[in-house]
Amino acid sequence: MIYDEILVRYGEISTKGKNRKLFIERLRANVQYVLKGFPNLKIIAQRDRMYIKLNGENFDEIAVRLKKVFGIQSFSPVMRIGKDLEEVKEKSVQLMESLNASGKTFKVQAKRVDKEYPHRTNELNQILGGHLLTSIENLKVDVHNPDLELKVEIRKDAAYLTCEVIKGAGGLPVGSGGKAMLMLSGGIDSPVAGFLAMRRGLQIEGVHFFSPPFTSERSKQKVLDLSEKMAQVSGKFILHIVHFTELQQEIIQNVPENYTMTVMRRMMMRITDEIRERRKGLAIVNGENIGQVASQTLESMYAINEVTNTPILRPLLTYDKNDIIELARDFDTLETSNRPYEDCCTIFVPAQPKTNPRRDKVNLYETYFDWEPYIEKAVESIETIEITGSNNKKEVNEFTDLF
Ligand code: ATP
Ligand code: MG
Repeated sequence: MIYDEILVRYGEISTKGKNRKLFIERLRANVQYVLKGFPNLKIIAQRDRMYIKLNGENFDEIAVRLKKVFGIQSFSPVMRIGKDLEEVKEKSVQLMESLNASGKTFKVQAKRVDKEYPHRTNELNQILGGHLLTSIENLKVDVHNPDLELKVEIRKDAAYLTCEVIKGAGGLPVGSGGKAMLMLSGGIDSPVAGFLAMRRGLQIEGVHFFSPPFTSERSKQKVLDLSEKMAQVSGKFILHIVHFTELQQEIIQNVPENYTMTVMRRMMMRITDEIRERRKGLAIVNGENIGQVASQTLESMYAINEVTNTPILRPLLTYDKNDIIELARDFDTLETSNRPYEDCCTIFVPAQPKTNPRRDKVNLYETYFDWEPYIEKAVESIETIEITGSNNKKEVNEFTDLF
């Protein structure tokens, strides 16, 4: 490998005035986390870009991981060289030769960041282009659609050469935008919603409602596996598993059948909000999508949302199912989500769930029973698991350990 560093270009963070330092520090920490299996790397985060010195580590393996890190617009493997024109010419030839340039088309794209450099951009393009044409056999110029585009950047500290620009995941660094609770089922939607929220910089903790024996260990495993996918981009991922069976059974027994779904969703929302408060989060994220199923009509959302004034973020609200599936494929959750599983919601789904529940009715029905002790019990028996993204799951014994 002829390259010795990786140049990382920041995404939107470049435009964020005074928060910039914080953003860069967060991105640096996230990059360091995903690359911790490569001990020789050296990461240098500057104001406008980041450099990763390879020190012999494998670029291709690193690239696979870097592509997942939110907050990176693009990155390139680069040769860092001296600025002397003769050196730039010589190293350009070396780089192009290492990419088997003979017989290919090319173009040179120079950029002069150091305005004191004696050669201007156009001049550099011509000098280097001419030198490459005479040094490498069968090389041809194509300025519109070249096989190889040699980028030469002259900066204050050094000159940088590369022929590759790899697209990053975009967005903002995870953790730069506050904490939210993700209602995580084993379905396709909620993990995608979680990734989209992380892509906007949120730190996410998962809340999963589990109803043994009606939902199986296999279903729980699925949620753990999805959590691990999230941990791969967010560092550690915390998952709160709520044992929901008892409360659900009381709902079935005490609420008219066509309102069980609405009440159950309200209970899930209340409990999630309680966890959010304890964990000092500021929002709840879910995978709801307008009109998809009975509980996701606007009337249902209106009835369910009444139980909290915490912001409920629904990143998928307006997406078509096919687009969601595409995103699930991109985030690599689709295969896991497609494994069969029983969700606590589907198991107790009434034959005729109300698609247009009313707030006054659901409030009346909820007065028929004292839910508080059951909600409290569910919250107190939460199982909290810390997942680190490399198959390391640590059971945190007490939910309260984390506070
Ligand atoms: P998903 O694919 O995410 O399960 P869905 O289209 O199947 O979504 P619903 O089952 O109606 O829709 O669930 C709507 C949202 O409620 C989910 O996206 C998720 O955020 C939340 N949710 C559903 N079931 C659970 C659960 N068992 N634990 C936590 N959250 C859940
Ligand atoms: Mg579901």
